Amino acid sequence: MTTAFGRPVEDNQHSLTAGPRGPVLGQDYHLIEKMAHFNRERVPERVVHAKGYGAYGTFTVTKDITQYSCAKVFSAVGKKTEMFARFSTVGGENGSADTARDPRGFAMKFYTEDGNWDLVGNNTPIFFIRDPLKFSDFIRTQKREPGTHLKPHWRRWDYWGLSPEAIHQVMFLYSDRGTPVSARFMNGYGSHTYSLWNKAGERVWVKFHVKTNQGNKTFVDHDAAQMTADDPDYSARDLINAIKKGDFPKWTVSIQVMPETDAETYKWNPFDLTKVWPHGDYPLIEVGEMELNRNVENYFAEVEQSAFEPSNLVPGIGFSPDKVLQNRVLSYADAHRYRIGINYDHIPVNQAKGAAVHTYHRDGSMVTGSNGGSTVDYEPNSFGGPVEDKAVMEPPLKINGDGARYTTYSGDDTDLYGQPRMFWEKVLDDTGRAHLVASIVGSMTEPNMGIDDNAKRHEIQQRMLKHWYKVHQDFGAAVEKGINGAQQKMAAD
Ligand code: NDP
Repeated sequence: MTTAFGRPVEDNQHSLTAGPRGPVLGQDYHLIEKMAHFNRERVPERVVHAKGYGAYGTFTVTKDITQYSCAKVFSAVGKKTEMFARFSTVGGENGSADTARDPRGFAMKFYTEDGNWDLVGNNTPIFFIRDPLKFSDFIRTQKREPGTHLKPHWRRWDYWGLSPEAIHQVMFLYSDRGTPVSARFMNGYGSHTYSLWNKAGERVWVKFHVKTNQGNKTFVDHDAAQMTADDPDYSARDLINAIKKGDFPKWTVSIQVMPETDAETYKWNPFDLTKVWPHGDYPLIEVGEMELNRNVENYFAEVEQSAFEPSNLVPGIGFSPDKVLQNRVLSYADAHRYRIGINYDHIPVNQAKGAAVHTYHRDGSMVTGSNGGSTVDYEPNSFGGPVEDKAVMEPPLKINGDGARYTTYSGDDTDLYGQPRMFWEKVLDDTGRAHLVASIVGSMTEPNMGIDDNAKRHEIQQRMLKHWYKVHQDFGAAVEKGINGAQQKMAAD
């Protein structure tokens, strides 16, 4: 045993004191170092997705999609690429229950030959918002209120009622898929529209789907609550144990492909994050298989310090005009710089593994490698420093439109209820519909939604009911009946 600087430690149980009763001598630097390090052991918690777990694995190409993308990760059937995935809840703190009704983060990092490709999605193909300016407000409604530090449910229903583009995702959240049994039993989705381009410089728009081969398994509210009490870390434990046993979880990775020209005329805005592309219009095309097969050895080093960012794309895979994706390009890397420092790319789990890294970045907090040694640190230069490669240039993207703040509920974006209605009518069966209604009613009435003001509660409930009625008459009627029944029961109690 040594100090952090290698000096052998003579005693790790007894402080250096003046006499057996003390006081402690200031020159006990081993004690000071030990306490000082302990005091600094936490990095800032992720503001969202704080509770999570991860594992390493392999992505294997099973079908040829080189007609769509020149990305090396897809270059040949049978090709394998090392990867890392992290699964998380969104709203809870690090230490909160894995079983919460909450979307699940589904973040994947592929260590490709062209650098890291991060596909940072969720277990839902859509999201609550489609304009990034609304993100922090929305997240606050899922977090603790400023006065009491409690999480009353009226805040979320107040916000959703006033932001009806959210209702599609709210229906996913309150359906059984809102409480997956564990990460192994849930799908992942890139959620945003991305683009692929091929060797000929032709671009298509794509959606990524990562479907569980274990089958979707979900808890109903009662079972999720029981598991929260029995084992709040259930999802992490389940993943670790499966990998330990050699029962490696697998997912089938597919894409939906939309020709660039379709985007101009398709009935829904294909870059709207609150909408899917129906499979009937854009069928799934298989790409590969993802398998998780190696547990981490150190949670903090490999999971807490893992940093995923939608800005990590590789040649052959590109962005789309999706407004939320555009802002995530900034916000993820920005959050990592704040949380774990400017040189977070030096941390082993985040380092490129398939590609050599040659940047002109130097210095900054916590440089751990050679920092470029004595090589030239500016470009262009006459000393053989790394140079750009025009061959990886994305084909030109036509952009037009007048710079303005466009309202969320006009133009392309007026259909708020069509896809939620498809979800209600076509995707859910009778049991699924009953569970959806029950979990919404439960949340919209749970001890008075945490609000004492009866008139305000009524206003929030009625506003939300109008949306459910617009999705489907039966849906609105069922939720209204449930709320009235629950409130009468509460009044009687
Ligand atoms: P399809 O009937 O072709 O596909 C339905 C999709 O719903 C499947 O991907 C299925 O995933 C998924 N699903 C089943 N149960 C649930 C649930 N409780 N919560 C969330 N997803 C579920 O439908 P369309 O493509 O024509 O779309 C109809 C509606 O389905 C959409 O409006 C949307 O609400 C929903 N949906 C569509 C998706 C898409 O990308 N097109 C993806 C997910 C949902 P699985 O096969 O794994 O069971």
